Amino acid sequence: MRDLPRLVEIVGRAARRLTGADGGAFVLRDGDEVHYVEVDAREPLWKGRRFPVSCCISGWAILNRAPVAVEDVLADPRIPHEVYRPTFVKSLAMVPIRSTDPLGALGAYWARPHKATPEEMETLRHLADATAIAFANIALYDELRRLNEGLERRVAERTARLEEALRELDDFAQHVAHDLRAPLRAMRGFARIALEELEAAGGPPGLREWLHRISEAGERMDDLIVDLLAYSRLARAELPRERVDLDRAADEVLLEARPSIAERGAAVEVERPLGEVWAHPAALKQILHNLLSNAIKFVAPGVAPRVRIRAESRPPRRRLWVEDNGIGIAPEDHERIFRMFERLHPQDRYPGTGIGLAIVRRAAERLGGAAGVESEPGKGSRFWVELPAGGA
Ligand code: ADP
Repeated sequence: MRDLPRLVEIVGRAARRLTGADGGAFVLRDGDEVHYVEVDAREPLWKGRRFPVSCCISGWAILNRAPVAVEDVLADPRIPHEVYRPTFVKSLAMVPIRSTDPLGALGAYWARPHKATPEEMETLRHLADATAIAFANIALYDELRRLNEGLERRVAERTARLEEALRELDDFAQHVAHDLRAPLRAMRGFARIALEELEAAGGPPGLREWLHRISEAGERMDDLIVDLLAYSRLARAELPRERVDLDRAADEVLLEARPSIAERGAAVEVERPLGEVWAHPAALKQILHNLLSNAIKFVAPGVAPRVRIRAESRPPRRRLWVEDNGIGIAPEDHERIFRMFERLHPQDRYPGTGIGLAIVRRAAERLGGAAGVESEPGKGSRFWVELPAGGA
């Protein structure tokens, strides 16, 4: 039992039915008054009315913490006769709800002179006991709900503050990353000029090598900044979704990747039609681009990369696969590689920032999907991303 009005209704009716009386009442104490919250009888009697505790029979039962049976209401001095005289009530019984500090009383009314039997009094007492327990439950439940509401409000406030702090942090990261790129561009530019001049003048090879390394390090740093920017942008930006044709998205990504595909002698096969998903077009292309770049990058030396892109339906999602014939990944690393800066290979063999797959997962999740991999060392990798299916 979780709400008071329902309890009052049920108990009022039960007081009448279980005793076979002509009326039942549920009375609650409210300070110096008693409140007849429910009366179940052929006339409403005093339903909804309040009387002083000191001058009515329910008040008597409450104050004396004792049940009472009255055979002739008009002969009993504890009863306000003027209230009863116009009604059908000839006899009654009242029992307090809760024996210590009663919170109210239950009553039964008879239209004929009747002395309530011990069984009837016992029935009313049991009903009063059950009511007291239900009351305590309702109070507990209310308290619990209040506490819960307070907790939810506090969580909501803290979440809002946390989100604000995260936004500020992301803004800060965007600013810093952006501002770092300008001096970096200058350093790389001057290193390149110096290198060109040295080469033209036939300068010392050692110096040329150093300048070359400065250039390369600058390039790597720029890649890192670009990836970091992409990652933090994914956290902040709204990503409104629309229906995206995967074939078109794949075409666009393949076109952009054409130089590196050619450079590595890779063969990319697309099993069409790939179908449609709900996604943010740019975020989806970023996912595809990152998976494709990895697929053609992580192959054993001397092996021509072969990549297959296909899709399958997994209602309500669509799963896109990017499969390669590369070096593969040990099962214990399958989760790790999706975290920021986690890389399994040395920079000189397989250059990279370690952010690409973190971007893939974050983008997939923000689009309401997921990303993962199936792979074994030496047996190629099958990366997948699952997004809400497009369709009609
Ligand atoms: P990056 O490619 O810049 O190193 P990623 O986050 O894209 O960073 O990938 C993390 C690591 O996961 C890679 O360094 C590599 O060790 C492993 N990895 C990713 N894709 C593949 C793949 N197709 N085959 C084998 N290993 C891969």
